[in-house]
Amino acid sequence: MRNPPKLSNDCFSLPPGVHWTPVDEALASLRERVSVVTGIEPVPTAAAGGRVLAVDVVAKRNSPPYANSAVDGYGFAFASLGQGEQALPLAIGRAAAGGPFDGAVPAGKALRILTGAMVPTGIDTILLEEDVVIEDGILKFEMGLKAGANVRPKGEDVAVGERVLSSGRILQPQDLALLAAVGVDTVRTYKRLRVGVLSTGDELRQIGEDIAPHQIYDANRPMLVDLIRRWGMEPVDLGHVRDDADVVKKMLTRGAREADVILTSGGASAGDEDHISAALQASGTLNLWRIAIKPGRPLALAMWDGVPVFGLPGNPVAAFVTALIFARPTMLELSGAGWAEPRGIHLPAAFSKIKKPGRREYLRAKMNADGRVEVFKSEGSGRISGLSWAEGLVELQNEGREIAEGDLVRYYPFSEFGL
Ligand code: AMP
Ligand code: MG
Repeated sequence: MRNPPKLSNDCFSLPPGVHWTPVDEALASLRERVSVVTGIEPVPTAAAGGRVLAVDVVAKRNSPPYANSAVDGYGFAFASLGQGEQALPLAIGRAAAGGPFDGAVPAGKALRILTGAMVPTGIDTILLEEDVVIEDGILKFEMGLKAGANVRPKGEDVAVGERVLSSGRILQPQDLALLAAVGVDTVRTYKRLRVGVLSTGDELRQIGEDIAPHQIYDANRPMLVDLIRRWGMEPVDLGHVRDDADVVKKMLTRGAREADVILTSGGASAGDEDHISAALQASGTLNLWRIAIKPGRPLALAMWDGVPVFGLPGNPVAAFVTALIFARPTMLELSGAGWAEPRGIHLPAAFSKIKKPGRREYLRAKMNADGRVEVFKSEGSGRISGLSWAEGLVELQNEGREIAEGDLVRYYPFSEFGL
């Protein structure tokens, strides 16, 4: 009896004759096709965290708005100092933040001044209180400071009229501080991108619902809705539909009314039960991409009533990865924030692996205490728990590669995906 044929080395490589779109090609082509779709609205600065600036912002005020003291200490005119040991009589009063000093400090005299106080006329230099002694109303110290010490000049940080933030900026907490400091009370931002989320599959039930043994809970929708929220966009929950092209179409039509972009999950391949693909086919704009990515692969893209639809894979691990890799940069562009891809770092692997050629792979990963990157114990795409275990993704390029412990691999912390 003959032995069965040996498996060939490339038995898992991709079927010939099918064009497997490389990830970078898919990204480049998405980037080329999309642009901002949301309108502009004014938002009070205090409520604008996470919003996308629609126009550049210019300072309405200098920062600091007046020369002020950087320390608690004593101020005087530098020109009135001599060499060696100094002795300056103290002027009456003090300068403190919020209560400007009335009048001018005469040459040869020093004034008590506190942090943040507007520097009075007659003072250009301030000495830290720890560096002086006061005896009988006379300030004594050793010469050795520079002219202008401990004074923060007016407009030193930002000059009035200067551009402080650019259009496309997703406003960070510290940006709100900057905007407040330079007197900007309202900003023009893009309206939040509304993102419809729709799950498909006859097997799905919602958490909280009764469930039969042959059914599963919809894991993708809560995940996608929360991703969208964290990306500063507005989720529009379109619920879950059965595998029925007509029902799917109805829901897409509703989604296109209520959202600027729609993410669906499940039914995106070209199989019998892939009703998202079937429904999108009706739009005449379906692009079914077989992307050379693991996990992931099918990605259905189409326009429905003028709204872009992303058909993500149903498998939650694949839905998560493709949402991060493809949907996020595209939606950032649609939202006005501009295309943004994650920046990776090279870290030594705490694992070994033989990577087959053909597809780009994303492994659920995290950095360990030694700064090495570990991967989840299983690459099984059904292992949702690995997503929770992970703190980032390792990216392995299309080529085959033998990875030994200690070899450098590219790691993207989830923070690079806005999480
Ligand atoms: P599909 O892409 O529809 O063929 O689904 C691929 C796999 O993902 C199947 O095992 C589905 O049961 C599962 N799946 C699809 N949608 C979801 C979902 N929303 N939550 C959890 N699993 C899902
Ligand atoms: Mg399905």
